[in-house]
Amino acid sequence: MAISTDNAIPVPKIDADNAFDAATCIGCGACVAACKNASAMLFVSAKVSQFSLLPQGKVEANKRVLHMVEQMDKEGFGNCTNTGACEVECPKGISLENIARMNSDFLKASVSSEA
Ligand code: SF4
Repeated sequence: MAISTDNAIPVPKIDADNAFDAATCIGCGACVAACKNASAMLFVSAKVSQFSLLPQGKVEANKRVLHMVEQMDKEGFGNCTNTGACEVECPKGISLENIARMNSDFLKASVSSEA
């Protein structure tokens, strides 16, 4: 019997660990409730990161981050002012690093011709 190699793309351990950590977000909304700006950046950045860190998620990474940020803005969530209240309240320990990563990904996607 042949062994499938479809999911045999090597993933650096640090990326796998960070993607797994981001994927533990349960969407509880505690981060939004704790934020004085009602920002959803921690939640959305966790969802963006859990895919963008992995090779399989890089295929549509530009489109994904642009669309998710656009939708977040449409829904009326506030802007992040880096108070860190979201990270403190998050029951899953989702890191602010995800917000920094999403901002970087968003900037790259905004100037990319692939989006
Ligand atoms: S508080 Fe943490 S687990 Fe809950 S939605 Fe926000 S990022 Fe996800």
